[in-house]
Amino acid sequence: MAQITVTGLSTVYPNGVRAVDGLDLTVADGEFFALLGPSGCGKTTLLRTIAGLEQATEGTLSIGDRDVTSVEPGKRNVAMVFQDYALFPHMTVTENIAYPLRVRRQPKATQQEVAARTAASLSLSALLERRPGQLSGGQQQRVALARAVAMDADVLLLDEPLSNLDARLRLEARTFLKRLQRELGVTTVFVTHDQAEALALADRIAVMEAGRIRQLGSPREVFARP
Ligand code: ADP
Ligand code: ADP
Repeated sequence: MAQITVTGLSTVYPNGVRAVDGLDLTVADGEFFALLGPSGCGKTTLLRTIAGLEQATEGTLSIGDRDVTSVEPGKRNVAMVFQDYALFPHMTVTENIAYPLRVRRQPKATQQEVAARTAASLSLSALLERRPGQLSGGQQQRVALARAVAMDADVLLLDEPLSNLDARLRLEARTFLKRLQRELGVTTVFVTHDQAEALALADRIAVMEAGRIRQLGSPREVFARP
């Protein structure tokens, strides 16, 4: 029910930069999809446009059967994890994870229950009363993921969520991410400039260049040597 359909999409910044330029893309329901390409090719802008944090200048965007091109971010049922995790520093791990439920005025008991369950699936149960400043980078990344998952969104958008981790933690985080995505079966779009990451995680990869898709296929197809 949560296929993403992008048709003729452009996102032009007020300074005239055409960061996404007439792009067409379909991400299947439940797919783990990577956007790959060099810095500045438009990956983050495409992700932010899907989230509604940037407004499309041309084209249409649907999530499931619903045209969300002009729908505000909070009503797209999309969860995004930012590069810097964007956790609330004054809140505990539980409060951070439960935040989207609190905003939606879910009962306190539901908030606690969902936070505890989501934390457990990401091995955070021992850290529930800590604040972000008392966590390692890998733990903060898992809290950010848990908060996104707790939203129970149709679509999960990840902007280089592993880039702030050292090599060892990145491998561990990949495992968590892959397992979580499999368990949830949630349509996931993942931005990376790292080929190895795309290869390890993605069902399909789109290679972007100058606001467009240059190449699209399974990891095997995209990385096939002639
Ligand atoms: P990537 O995520 O692939 O590094 P971005 O989407 O961040 O690419 O950027 C694509 C292009 O848009 C770049 O030329 C970048 O400088 C420009 N850009 C990104 N954000 C803004 C902004 N807020 N205002 C103006 N130009 C921007
Ligand atoms: P990334 O390459 O990881 O997408 P950047 O470091 O390029 O991120 O951009 C960080 C922030 O700066 C983003 O919020 C982006 O929108 C903004 N930004 C990037 N390029 C420009 C630009 N040319 N003008 C204004 N803001 C920009």
